[in-house]
Amino acid sequence: MNYFSQNPLNRFSELRPDEARIRQFWQQENVAVLVVNDSSNLFTDTDQVVMPATLNAEQSARLQKTAHTCVYLGTVDNVPYFVLGFEAMEEQLNNDLGSSFQFLDLKGVALELPQEQSSILAYARGIVHWNMRHRHCPDCGSLTASLEAGHVRQCSNSTCGKLHFPRTDAAVIMLISEGDSCLLGRQAGWPKGQYATLAGFLEPGETLEQAVAREAKEETGVALKHINYHSSQPWPFPGSIMIGFTAVAQNRNLQVNYNEMEDARWFTREEIIAGLRAGTFRLPTKVSISYRLIRDWFNAMPGYDLEEVQAQAVSQ
Ligand SMILES: [Zn+2]
Repeated sequence: MNYFSQNPLNRFSELRPDEARIRQFWQQENVAVLVVNDSSNLFTDTDQVVMPATLNAEQSARLQKTAHTCVYLGTVDNVPYFVLGFEAMEEQLNNDLGSSFQFLDLKGVALELPQEQSSILAYARGIVHWNMRHRHCPDCGSLTASLEAGHVRQCSNSTCGKLHFPRTDAAVIMLISEGDSCLLGRQAGWPKGQYATLAGFLEPGETLEQAVAREAKEETGVALKHINYHSSQPWPFPGSIMIGFTAVAQNRNLQVNYNEMEDARWFTREEIIAGLRAGTFRLPTKVSISYRLIRDWFNAMPGYDLEEVQAQAVSQ
């Protein structure tokens, strides 16, 4: 399973319009309230163990007054989850909450968290970000108001009144192979030696498979065949879903578009192993679907285990 894809909450979307019922959830003694400020989630910081912070009813009631968003996320094991969203309030929130809390970027700590918890935090981050970016109507610019427990916004201008729903941007990401090699690229500004699978955003009027073929052609000049769906991953950084594919290149001729990438090249498994051992090659974070695509390709050859190679390289 990909990171951020194991959200255990029942979203109860049919209950969202029922304000009395949502209020009951909010007033439930065991309510769990998450906090997102800008693009950071709130964590507890006790005994050096990072855990998602859930505020109690009293703390949440105090903070709710200054939150720009309050969203009912769903319920699991009879615990209703909400998130409060803030903008540019880290200092004030830190003062209010005390030293046992801290704001962190979810991507940076997801590996330390239980998968279900990191999935809830990703959902919280994504829905807060959408609310924050839609406080004005995209059609007429008037202020919008939150409806349906934070999952709809309505324009306040009575002659417009448009309803706006959360958006997710579709991005394709693909492991391209040919023979014993896979095609990886890197962007300027990435850590030295780091390569990842190619990726790009879906354009209007395009199928996902066409986007895979177009991005590969634009970035590296490679023509593809056998484009097949692999898996997908919510990627709310800030508002995407990564849709993973595998594909086979028609040949290995590369014409790298250096306006789009710093480099792209073919790697055999042996080259990846040698690079990891020498410290000259780095893989993307294990949190990413890019890592998963590379690992699944690498491990498809009997006798190869990418995580084992990485562990050995680190312990050298
Ligand atoms: Zn409007």
